[in-house]
Amino acid sequence: MVNRRVGAAYGSGVRVLDVRERSVPISRFADPALASGSLTTSIVAVATDARRDGVPVVGYGFASFGRFAQGGLIRERFAPRLLAAGGGLDPFRAWEAMMAGEKPGGHGERCVAVGALDMALWDASAKAAGLPLHHHLAEVLPQARPQPDVAVYAAGGYRYPADDLRLLEHEARALVELGHEMVKIKVGAASIAEDLRRIDVVLGVVGDPRRLAVDAMNAWAGTTGIEAARALAPYGLRWLEDVGDPHDFEGLSALAAAYDAPLAAGEALFSAAEAHLLRRHGSLRPDRDVLVFDPVHCYGIPGFLSILAEFEAAGWERSAFWPHGGHLFCLHLVAALGLGGAELNPLAFQPFGGLTDAARVEHGRATPPELPGIGFEGRAALRSLFSGLGLEPPRVPPMG
Ligand code: MG
Repeated sequence: MVNRRVGAAYGSGVRVLDVRERSVPISRFADPALASGSLTTSIVAVATDARRDGVPVVGYGFASFGRFAQGGLIRERFAPRLLAAGGGLDPFRAWEAMMAGEKPGGHGERCVAVGALDMALWDASAKAAGLPLHHHLAEVLPQARPQPDVAVYAAGGYRYPADDLRLLEHEARALVELGHEMVKIKVGAASIAEDLRRIDVVLGVVGDPRRLAVDAMNAWAGTTGIEAARALAPYGLRWLEDVGDPHDFEGLSALAAAYDAPLAAGEALFSAAEAHLLRRHGSLRPDRDVLVFDPVHCYGIPGFLSILAEFEAAGWERSAFWPHGGHLFCLHLVAALGLGGAELNPLAFQPFGGLTDAARVEHGRATPPELPGIGFEGRAALRSLFSGLGLEPPRVPPMG
């Protein structure tokens, strides 16, 4: 067992009656016709014996994005354990049932399968309580520190296969028009000189370099990362994310010694054990650096809470946490825990990224939807995708 006892079980819980999953393609670009690494994600639906206003409660989740679907692990291990666990499952008890018999280590893919199901279980739990997830979390998590709205930034800026700079500028303008004040783009896919041109183009749109973060997606190993960081240093960017291999803590330490401006790390680490290694050996600086662990990729909320505890016990502020994800589930969690802010993917990774259809970012801040659960039902394209899993969709109030 890993990450044991990260949260207190609560309430009477539910019995899981059925679990459905499917792998779906997902694109880094608003235009899904552009080649995007053949990424996939798992969508899941969990039917429960709970009813709300006479309607069976069904929870929906997905495996966040940027990686791949986890259908085999869900079908072979984690869904059968949920179905066999009997009644009285709140998300913490369900998490323990899913992890029964799992050995320490080996986090890399199963954490994503568990995280997808955990999301659906929290959606169901909040729907059964008749509450938006962020209010539900504020009631049941002793760690809650609710905030009414959340600082957000728009992520995107992947290198286009052709006409990159023109399309990048167009994308940055679209993000600003959506109300975003901060954006994050990718670097590391071409030469450093080309990356600097990309940064100049986006700074031409957002202005202040504190409104631009860059993410190397772990592309720069060793001295390449340090050379790149030295080239970026004069810009004074908001942060530089995921420079080298996620497990190269020695390299990260060398980078932190060479680069004064904020670094971001943690997106490709998936467990409390790995987070501990990052904290002890990565030389990150609590006064400026940013932690981007993805709650879904880190075994869901129970796993994320254990990572939060690891860093808080060492004196880190919650404001350092800006979780990777860019979707509604993370927005609820950031609101409930009072974290620094949330990524949003308003254009990339559709139909999962961004807010509900009716919502808007205002002055760089966003509010989680007031629909029961996560509020996926407030996104027409997502509602349609989840209903294709064939479980009874919950009746939803008018979009709000
Ligand atoms: Mg990243």
